[in-house]
Amino acid sequence: MKEQRNGLLLVVSGPSGVGKGTLVKALMERNSRIKTSVSATTRAPRPGEIDGIHYFFKTEEEFKGMVDRGEFLEYIHVFGSKYYGTPRTFVEQQLSEGYDVILEIDVQGAMKVKQAFPDAVLIFITAPSMSEIKSRLIGRGTETMEQVEKRFATAFEEIKMIPHYDYVVVNDMIDKAVHHLEAILEAERCRTGRSAYLTEAIEEIGR
Ligand code: ADP
Ligand code: 5GP
Repeated sequence: MKEQRNGLLLVVSGPSGVGKGTLVKALMERNSRIKTSVSATTRAPRPGEIDGIHYFFKTEEEFKGMVDRGEFLEYIHVFGSKYYGTPRTFVEQQLSEGYDVILEIDVQGAMKVKQAFPDAVLIFITAPSMSEIKSRLIGRGTETMEQVEKRFATAFEEIKMIPHYDYVVVNDMIDKAVHHLEAILEAERCRTGRSAYLTEAIEEIGR
């Protein structure tokens, strides 16, 4: 059977500080077929964040221009004033080349992606407890206490969205959580509904 196929579109969401970035980085280090989409945002870079690697950092005017030109797969306006969006071209190109693409986006964005791409796999990451989420957020040391409180308050709303996701992964131990993500990927690649595999299998059997 040929290996050529469209990649999987994976959406990873979860409260800020739960460990999404940490898990996705670890997953990518172990899987060369996975790419992450780099979002555009109007929020300021954190120390160590590089334009084009962690985000495309944009002014509000630049971001709105991209919106007007239809350059986003989805975008949102959160935390009072900041915009975040997924550039469309990169994702579509990588999927068509057979790479699996991870979007690390919020719950509103995830719902929009599911509507546009019903085949997308939605994974919600959570932590063993709310207090653990808060201490990780504080421990990361990248937000002011006011920003931490804002993000933590949003976490309660986000967790209510878990039933809309295909999978939930509890990020207790990093290795275990990464293993669960890999298991989800493997299972999804084997789904009968993913037509490229099925068509090829049927063709092969028919020969
Ligand atoms: P997110 O991307 O969800 O906002 P990060 O990946 O930045 O979260 O992780 C937030 C903080 O929690 C970081 O300091 C990270 O090192 C830490 N962290 C991530 N996963 C775990 C874990 N399983 N146990 C303890 N700390 C963790
Ligand atoms: P942070 O500022 O911590 O990098 O991200 C804040 C939130 O925005 C996280 O929940 C993150 O997943 C989400 N986010 C990042 N990029 C995008 C995007 O392109 N679209 C949407 N909808 N959410 C995003």
